[in-house]
Amino acid sequence: MRKITIVGGGQSGLQVALGLLQKGYKVRVVQNRTAEEVAAGRVLSSQCMFANAVQHERDLGIDFWSDSCPPVEGISFSVPHPELPGQKAIDWVGRLDRNAYSVDQRVKIPRWLAEFEAAGGDLVIADAGVAELEAYAGEDDLVLVASGKGEIGRMFERDAAKSPFDRPQRALALTYVTGMTPRPEHSAVSFNLIPGVGEYFVFPALTTTGPCEIMVMEGVPGGPMDCWAEVKTPEEHLAKSKWIVDTFLPWEAERCRDIALTDDNGILAGRFAPTVRQPVATLPSGRKVLGLADAVCLNDPITGQGSNNAAKAAAIYLRRILAQEDRPFDGVWMQGTFDAYWDYAQWVVRWTNMMLMPPPSFVLEIMGSAQAFPALAQRIANGFDDPRDFFPWFADPAEAGAYLGQLRAA
Ligand SMILES: Cc1cc2nc3c(=O)[nH]c(=O)nc-3n(C[C@H](O)[C@H](O)[C@H](O)COP(=O)(O)OP(=O)(O)OC[C@H]3O[C@@H](n4cnc5c(N)ncnc54)[C@H](O)[C@@H]3O)c2cc1C
Repeated sequence: MRKITIVGGGQSGLQVALGLLQKGYKVRVVQNRTAEEVAAGRVLSSQCMFANAVQHERDLGIDFWSDSCPPVEGISFSVPHPELPGQKAIDWVGRLDRNAYSVDQRVKIPRWLAEFEAAGGDLVIADAGVAELEAYAGEDDLVLVASGKGEIGRMFERDAAKSPFDRPQRALALTYVTGMTPRPEHSAVSFNLIPGVGEYFVFPALTTTGPCEIMVMEGVPGGPMDCWAEVKTPEEHLAKSKWIVDTFLPWEAERCRDIALTDDNGILAGRFAPTVRQPVATLPSGRKVLGLADAVCLNDPITGQGSNNAAKAAAIYLRRILAQEDRPFDGVWMQGTFDAYWDYAQWVVRWTNMMLMPPPSFVLEIMGSAQAFPALAQRIANGFDDPRDFFPWFADPAEAGAYLGQLRAA
């Protein structure tokens, strides 16, 4: 029986682990926080997952929340008018073909850890370092490192050719709240772009206390939304979140009159540089380990793709492991496995990194035109579920012009 160790029990690591257990593999997950610590700890993400990603969970029978989690049914996009305070220069909404869901990882991960143990998985609570990786690689057929933003991921060399940024591009903050007024027609990720200042998006979710809304703030470094350094308490964090919508987005502020924090841990502030790494690391002994998801392909949350990527990467790695049957998981197989994921992920990385830069005029034209063309709004909304559909027309002025021309002619 093949033995596999996965360091990191998050979205990607547990998805692979549960899939392998179902196929009779012997699986060890090494996780540095217990289920209880995750459940009682700070929020980790806003984790909005679109239908293709959720489908991978359903395929394994581990989507336990689609009945109880409030659905996200569309994507809306607004830009404040530069000269008319309180007015919008761009404003549209596109329906998703299939609902998205955001299940707080404080809810999901403890349940998946319990499922893993109940199915016979070996859960080790430890903070793995290189010495532990050596031991696991000596004992097992394969070691995956799915440690997210954990320090151990630095053992994978940064791939400068795939990582255009060497520093954080946004000051990030999350605020989980109750009491927000719902959008009128249907639920959505309400995405607001404030040129030069940052982005604010908000959507319904399921947290430890029930349904909530997650406010996500992405401040341009050094700008007015890069404002979390002085914030010390949960009350100050909530007040700062309200200040942002009051100051820049009055239509969102309207929805926030009666909001309250879901809990004192429903807040987060931080920043990190988007980074793609070489997927294979060689241990001092010469043995190799393979990185998975954020550990080797970390994106800024501006496009809300990280958990989606993690689920899709996990599905690809699982398929590749099963297809390898009794053959060795050598360096060539490891690189090929990441490459199979990169075939998809490169488009997500490219689109996400584009969104971190000031939009070129042809992208502004696309985003503005979606007001007039519902089909375009719907296509952009559904692109969040599969960003490959943004290419080439979202990245190339001539292709954009040709596509907009077709829409006008129709
Ligand atoms: C502010 C913010 C907002 C986000 N919003 C979204 C969103 O709306 N949509 C979306 O799709 N994604 C979003 N993401 C990203 C998403 O949460 C991550 O991309 C996703 O969780 C990555 O999954 P993973 O399996 O790679 O790592 P994780 O889910 O981070 O899991 C890694 C696990 O490894 C453990 N670990 C780390 N080091 C060690 C070690 N040395 N030994 C043992 N265990 C270790 C960690 O404790 C953790 O449990 C957001 C992220 C942030 C920061």
